[in-house]
Amino acid sequence: MKTAVGTDTISDNGLAPNEGDSMPSVAKQLAMALLILALPAWAVKSAETPPRVNGQRIVQHLQALSEYGKNAQGGVSRVAYTAADRAGREYVMGLMREAGLAVSIDVAGNLVGPRAGTDATLKPIVIGSHIDSVPEGGNYDGDVGSLGAIEAAQTLNERGVRLRHPLQVMIFENEEGVMLGSTAIARGADAARLNSVSQSGKVVREGIKFLGGDPDRIAEARRQPGSISAYIELHIEQGAVLEQQHVQIGIVEGIVGILEREVLVEGFANHAGTTPMDQRHDAMLSAARFIEKFNLLVTSVPGRQVGTVGWIKAEPGAYNVIPGKVRLGMELRDLDANKIKALFDQSREAAEEIGRLNGTTFHFSSEDISAPALTDKSLQGLIAATAKRLDLSTKLMPSGAGHDAQEMANLGPIGMIFIPSVGGISHSPKEFSRPGDIENGANVLLGTVLSLDLAKGLR
Ligand SMILES: [Zn+2]
Repeated sequence: MKTAVGTDTISDNGLAPNEGDSMPSVAKQLAMALLILALPAWAVKSAETPPRVNGQRIVQHLQALSEYGKNAQGGVSRVAYTAADRAGREYVMGLMREAGLAVSIDVAGNLVGPRAGTDATLKPIVIGSHIDSVPEGGNYDGDVGSLGAIEAAQTLNERGVRLRHPLQVMIFENEEGVMLGSTAIARGADAARLNSVSQSGKVVREGIKFLGGDPDRIAEARRQPGSISAYIELHIEQGAVLEQQHVQIGIVEGIVGILEREVLVEGFANHAGTTPMDQRHDAMLSAARFIEKFNLLVTSVPGRQVGTVGWIKAEPGAYNVIPGKVRLGMELRDLDANKIKALFDQSREAAEEIGRLNGTTFHFSSEDISAPALTDKSLQGLIAATAKRLDLSTKLMPSGAGHDAQEMANLGPIGMIFIPSVGGISHSPKEFSRPGDIENGANVLLGTVLSLDLAKGLR
């Protein structure tokens, strides 16, 4: 029966609800049910926008965490294995529990906060960072990613979102020292690392015990390659690129590999007053020429590689003695291991030539190189799409600093999200990131986790 026609009484086929047979409305209901199944959990739960983190809460948590190891300079000295580190971890464990994470300390001393998914056969999506600091460090390096990850879990809880995948928030121990916690998980921590003396003064092994881990059973912390769906880490940039270019989110292409070599230049120590200039075997002069040449080589090819001579020591080290020996430390960083190798080889050849000029010789210590860790292309894409949805500008960039993510790359695909560091300052009490940027970063992390959770074919 047709009555006064209102749009809501006319179905899509132009028929009033009671006209025609009942199939269209059944089909419609079915279609609606299928649509709902296809929607992300948060969209089913509420008709609101995708979940967003509470930025103010992250900042409050950052402030509260900054009390543990607070120093007079306004920064923090929460060096791994100190009392401040342990107290800070206890505070963070409390936040993890509040966020509904079943937190525990693994045998390596990492804080592990799992959250069940709806499909236990899927591998976990892991998010997190670290809360230990360098001596006289700042309150953002590691802390932003750690508290941002906990906030993401908290937000999922408050919105009643169940992911398909298990989620794990990881707070890795001793990142600033030897990246111990993530190494133990991803590759296993060897005896040399466990027996080394940490910045706290404690032997690493003792430090792990102090945090509640069990160094004798540390091998049990190790996970198998392929055992995670992905690892995503939010971090401050620790450089000035994003700020200078007014970009809100950095999408990390990879964490650079680092080659470190100690170089010994040998000449002949002799009297600085009586030895004529043309009869010297001056190790310092050769070292100086080498440092200049190394810089020229690194800057002579296009790219974002960096090379540094960071320290130098002359022997015997007196005004009136031509140095007979000089030791210096060189390092090279890039995303491309071959480029690092090529630049080092060229530097070594240049050193031989420099040595010939004044009868000095160069010796290079054996190779100490950490391989570059590239982030996953599809995760880069998910991060970019998430940022775009949030109306945030992005830039692909390398990470010149090391992160736990580079170890996690041994277990599965990794992704990293950077937010601007004001003035590019880090590892300093002056380290700072703006509350708005922190909130943006945590929202990109959360949004990426949600997209990843829905990604097809992902185990
Ligand atoms: Zn860090």
